[in-house]
Amino acid sequence: MNNRLIIAIDGPSGVGKGTVARAVAAALGYRHVDTGAMYRGVAWRALQDGIGFEDEGALSALATRIAIDASGRVVRVDGVDISGAIRNPDIDRGAARVARIAGVRAALVAQQRHLGEGGGVVMEGRDIGTVVFPDADVKVYLDASAEERARRRVHDQTHNGSSDMAKVTSEMAARDDSDRTRAVAPLVVAADARVIDTTGLSIDEVVERVLAMANRPPES
Ligand code: C5P
Repeated sequence: MNNRLIIAIDGPSGVGKGTVARAVAAALGYRHVDTGAMYRGVAWRALQDGIGFEDEGALSALATRIAIDASGRVVRVDGVDISGAIRNPDIDRGAARVARIAGVRAALVAQQRHLGEGGGVVMEGRDIGTVVFPDADVKVYLDASAEERARRRVHDQTHNGSSDMAKVTSEMAARDDSDRTRAVAPLVVAADARVIDTTGLSIDEVVERVLAMANRPPES
């Protein structure tokens, strides 16, 4: 039953999408795809290759050329494990830069659609329910207050960043602003998404809500 759904989880930085998406995928036996890691992979490789974040043509070509695997615990670019290298402030900023470029997005969205076709996937990002899979079976938009998101980010063991709350809050606000106001695929709530304010909720409570939606998707 409900074997091959596409579950789209969108929301701003630090909201806990990764933790929730991974737990939902594990509970359902689905594949988990972290699309943010794909943008991070492009930014990482651009830094390695000395490509400037203003060079839209080179970055679009790079996104088309490299093989990014972001559907397991380990994130790989051209076979290299970059999991430990992509969660830090430099890549936070770089990913938000490359994510503004239409050619980069086109290349990654094509891969994301390919990964999700046939269903059985929990895909997390900023534009999954609006652009990548506008017909997803389940659409969730996770939100939380800016203070709570900064607190979660500071305590995120997988993210190597500052523990200065004011700094983390302001850098996160700058990225959110970039994601929400960019011309291509800005972060917006899909008209048919269920918004879950996770501010006062535990991870388990959020996961339960998403699983309840998956067991009774709106169209079924
Ligand atoms: O989710 P995460 O914070 O890892 O994403 C890093 C950056 O990648 C985001 O700030 C955003 O600019 C970009 N992104 C995006 N669309 C997605 C996923 C991530 O633009 N579907």
